[in-house]
Amino acid sequence: MNFNFFLFLSSGTTEGRQKYVPFTKHSSQTTLQIFRLAAAYRSRVYPIREGGRILEFIYSSKQFKTKGGLTAGTATTHYYASEEFKIKQEKTKSFTCSPEEVISSGEYKQSTYCHLLLGLFFSDQVEFITSTFAYSIVQAFTAFEECWQDICIDVREGSLSSSRITLPKMRKAVLDTISPKPYLASKIEVACKKLESLDWFGLVPKLWPNAKYVYSIMTGSMQHYLKKLRHYAGDLPLVSADYGSTESWIGVNVDPSLPPEDVTFAVIPTFSYFEFIPIHRRKQDCNSAIDDFIEDEPVPLSQVKLGQEYEIVLTSFTGLYRYRLGDVVEVAGFHKGTPKLNFVCRRKLILTVNIDKNTEKDLQLVVDRGSQLLNKTGAELVDFTSHADIVNQPGHYIIYWEIKGDVEEGVLNQCCHEMDVSFVDPGYVVSRRTNSIGPLELCIVKRGAFRMILDYFVGNGAALSQFKTPRCTSNQVLVRILNDWTIKRFHSTAYC
Ligand code: AMP
Repeated sequence: MNFNFFLFLSSGTTEGRQKYVPFTKHSSQTTLQIFRLAAAYRSRVYPIREGGRILEFIYSSKQFKTKGGLTAGTATTHYYASEEFKIKQEKTKSFTCSPEEVISSGEYKQSTYCHLLLGLFFSDQVEFITSTFAYSIVQAFTAFEECWQDICIDVREGSLSSSRITLPKMRKAVLDTISPKPYLASKIEVACKKLESLDWFGLVPKLWPNAKYVYSIMTGSMQHYLKKLRHYAGDLPLVSADYGSTESWIGVNVDPSLPPEDVTFAVIPTFSYFEFIPIHRRKQDCNSAIDDFIEDEPVPLSQVKLGQEYEIVLTSFTGLYRYRLGDVVEVAGFHKGTPKLNFVCRRKLILTVNIDKNTEKDLQLVVDRGSQLLNKTGAELVDFTSHADIVNQPGHYIIYWEIKGDVEEGVLNQCCHEMDVSFVDPGYVVSRRTNSIGPLELCIVKRGAFRMILDYFVGNGAALSQFKTPRCTSNQVLVRILNDWTIKRFHSTAYC
């Protein structure tokens, strides 16, 4: 593959829109550099055996050609198909369990089954378990709770369930790798029966007895999955993975022994030229749609202050000039002079469950599409807001509407469906297809609900003249008001 002519497709940052980001040799070198650096820091605390295996829940999507003939795809897709991915395995002396055909199949469920099967086939050699984002590990083990019996049959017989795995290339690659292991299958079967009675607590150490830790991005929007991950990991340490974006790598976790809640990322000053916009908050609610920050002049890396919050700006080697990443970070300390950053939140992101990223603007477009159907009936959308429900699994979006006029239920069902399919963010679409985000829910609230919300804000000191309905909220009081005032609920049937 020619590294000089490639475009990365970001999953969307400041605007929540995908962007083409040029890719050069420097980009691939920094990827290799940060992975080797992170592996070195991890091995100081949690040494692993040379030549061992990694159970990686990784998935790549399709690459495509732009009109101008350049190859484009997501950074991870490119990385898993690159030389660097192979070099990293050789340099860190740890090898992934799954062949390329499993990683790049494009069929999420089939890949997960094969990752699990191969992970168990090599279980004695697995040194750690990883994925890019923590939710993939949680999702894989949730799937395992359902399919472990079939996996045991396949381990015992060296076979591959023909109903579960239909892709010929993947079948061949997996069947070429495995062979019958009846003793191992019986061991797994006994362990799973026991685990089932324990609600799968401690699944990882039980099934992968030599695993030293679980490694993944567990900060930011992934923090929600920590609880379930801890449940599966039992007493194994959870190590939080590094901080980067499609546009540039940013920092490495130099304290792998810290729990994910306390992790910081030491900025690597050579990855990009970093600047930091000092920001001061008026409100504590990071998920508020109102971007309530006051900005100061940007400062270089050498002038950041401990305890201060900043928005990151980067000038990259691939041509981005003073690019605002849209992330809010806090300087939590220094490592040999370079700041250690605490990831705080996305500055303008409002709706997110896992890898999806939708801004206020995206939501507005979606609601416009949905309410067009409503307008045909003569009814009117008075106000709306939204909430990402991550308490119930799988997480999903709830959109609250206050309507003036009478609308038939059939029409509201259509509105709900229309909004679900109108979110074009690839993270959302993929997650909906794989059901890691559940169907969109439309809640119709009683007339006056938004007036109640206004009253609530004003009662808490907001200026009426400046009040803007929060388009997304995680404020518990607000969510309670909205739910108390809900009179009808609809669930999308899209992606079924
Ligand atoms: P992408 O647009 O797909 O390149 O996603 C990059 C964004 O993902 C960053 O700007 C962050 O908002 C988020 N992200 C990446 N790494 C981490 C991390 N370790 N902790 C929290 N958020 C992260």
